[in-house]
Amino acid sequence: MLDLILTSSNTIGLMAICCMVFGALQRSVRQTALRRAGVGLALGLGTVLAMLEPLQFAPGYQADARGAFVGVAALFGGPIAAWVTITIAGLGRWLIGGAGAPLGMAVIAATGLAVWMWTKLERPTVARNWQAWLALSLMCALPTTLAFFLTPAPTLRLIFFIAALNVSSVLIFGHMMEREQRLRRRERLLSLAAATDELTGLPNRRAFVEYCDALEKDRPKTLALLMMDIDHFKSVNDRYGHAAGDHALRSVGAAISQTLGAEDFAARLGGEEFGIVLRVDSTNAGFKAAERLREACRVSYGPPELKLRTSVSIGGFFFEAGAFNRTEGQKFADRALYQAKASGRDQTVMLEPSKPAAGSMSARYADSFGR
Ligand code: GH3
Ligand code: MG
Ligand code: MG
Repeated sequence: MLDLILTSSNTIGLMAICCMVFGALQRSVRQTALRRAGVGLALGLGTVLAMLEPLQFAPGYQADARGAFVGVAALFGGPIAAWVTITIAGLGRWLIGGAGAPLGMAVIAATGLAVWMWTKLERPTVARNWQAWLALSLMCALPTTLAFFLTPAPTLRLIFFIAALNVSSVLIFGHMMEREQRLRRRERLLSLAAATDELTGLPNRRAFVEYCDALEKDRPKTLALLMMDIDHFKSVNDRYGHAAGDHALRSVGAAISQTLGAEDFAARLGGEEFGIVLRVDSTNAGFKAAERLREACRVSYGPPELKLRTSVSIGGFFFEAGAFNRTEGQKFADRALYQAKASGRDQTVMLEPSKPAAGSMSARYADSFGR
């Protein structure tokens, strides 16, 4: 009786550790295949450790919760985790040795494959209701339990114990893992929500600051920081209502997203103001990209028959490689934006990197682009 208790408690302890590793992998490994391989590795080692504290019932034959580990690996890590776990656990069982080794290895492979195939067929219901959990736990326990009929002197008590150990292990372990997965998903959703502007779906000011701070540390290649502000936006609200203003803001947000390159970044900083980081290699290229954005942001608003369109003003500042600094960039881009507004709106002003404080430089630069 004592060895039954020891085997069970050792198994539960190992499951708790595997679950913690699973949570840590979900949090820290972004690449899916790598994360799944990690899950397979953790659960494979868990299976080996479970097999080292088994219930020895005949020379060379042992009973443990390997079915639960292998099944949970397939369920939470897909085929990659299933294969890694099967390989490590199979190898482990082979090294432990004894007359029961080939049968034990076959049980490991059969459980992994059965559970993986079942999750393929039953995907929508897996781990969502108690019937699915029960079916899964029975499936994990089945190969182990059936294999007992091929061992010497299988007693009914032993078969019952091992079936119960595997079923209860899957139920407990599976729920622990699912809870961990739910927590991580909620964490991801919350952090996404905290970084997203609700109205436009663009990143918000917080995300902009985080992005720029990370950029600063990366010492990036050349880039341009733009500040964009919709012109006379207050009158859109005043004349056509707040809902029309919101609609225009959403359209401008969508226009910015569609115009940006894959490497660029844009955020709504608040109100009708947007911050944009462009991966360009010169002030000239930054100016041209800003002009494309300015044209794209002529979105319609108000009654369709009036054919009204928004316009935006853009102020930008270009950084040489490794020189990016958010505070400085925002200061000069804001200054350039102020100039764009003061010069009549609906235009782009880029400040020169070498002489950012010289207002006349921006005018000269704009001149060179025909303004
Ligand atoms: P300027 O050309 O100088 O930028 O003039 P402006 O009217 O755009 O600037 P101002 O800063 O005076 O007004 C900004 C307006 O943006 C005020 C506010 O009503 C509006 N606004 C800010 N956030 C929102 C929003 O989320 N929805 C809507 N509909 N309007 C907003
Ligand atoms: Mg404005
Ligand atoms: Mg404004």
